[in-house]
Amino acid sequence: MEPTAPADPARLLMGALESGRVHSAYLVSGPVEEARALARRFARSLVCSAPEGERPCEECLSCRRSAPRAEPALDGSGRSGPLYRHIGDHPDLFFVERGADDTRVRIGQIRALQAALRLRSAEGGRRVAVIADAEWLNSEAQNALLRLLEEPPPETTVVLVAPHAAVLLATVRSRCQRIRLPARPPEATEPHPLEARLASLGSLGPDAVLDLALEYRGDRARAAAAVEELLQVAAAWLARRTAEAVRAGSTAVDDELDLHRRLRELRRALRVRNANPQMVAERALLGLRDLLATRAA
Ligand SMILES: [Zn+2]
Repeated sequence: MEPTAPADPARLLMGALESGRVHSAYLVSGPVEEARALARRFARSLVCSAPEGERPCEECLSCRRSAPRAEPALDGSGRSGPLYRHIGDHPDLFFVERGADDTRVRIGQIRALQAALRLRSAEGGRRVAVIADAEWLNSEAQNALLRLLEEPPPETTVVLVAPHAAVLLATVRSRCQRIRLPARPPEATEPHPLEARLASLGSLGPDAVLDLALEYRGDRARAAAAVEELLQVAAAWLARRTAEAVRAGSTAVDDELDLHRRLRELRRALRVRNANPQMVAERALLGLRDLLATRAA
């Protein structure tokens, strides 16, 4: 299916409600927060029971159940949290994303969703499953998802959310009605000043990197806050680089994913285990340096 023109994609999606011609699968691509918000609104609208007018109406029983509230964090292994959750506490609205500590949406999450969708709808109406972070489904998980898209349970709609459609297998894409949100204006993506420093790490030797980490000595609260910022910027920068590499066709990004996981562990060590900020900065900077040096080689 051809992607829809960027002109008001939200209206196009909501128009499906009015015409009553709802597809069994959609792929919403574009800026992640907006795409997620649109997918959630669409899902809530599909189960809203208002006879006419704006949906979600925010007044019917269904809308009250699907209204935003604190939702549990997912855990892809199911050990410290659920594999999927509901939107609000609506039993027919499902939401899947990466677990809080995962770099991938795991196949177990897709299987759990499939199992839930094989059961009968709780309210007897439509069911909707939003799969956010769809760019982080590995090919095994995408193939599991493909089976769901090929034989969708009755009255069920799956909404995938990813920054770019191209990151998904063509077989998955072709099953979806595509909704493309316009890119954000460029000023929203101004680089953080630390990024230039991160980008230059690959050309430094280990000793020079350790010198950089000396900045994070001294008063612990202040040093910890600075390292926290360093880790945040580094993780976001690395995620963006990795997504760009994947978009450009690279499949060898295990080192990137591994480092992303280590950055997250370092952040936790800093916060929860009171790790020494300078040591945390050293490990993060050396990890980035090694990765960049390898990639440049
Ligand atoms: Zn409603």
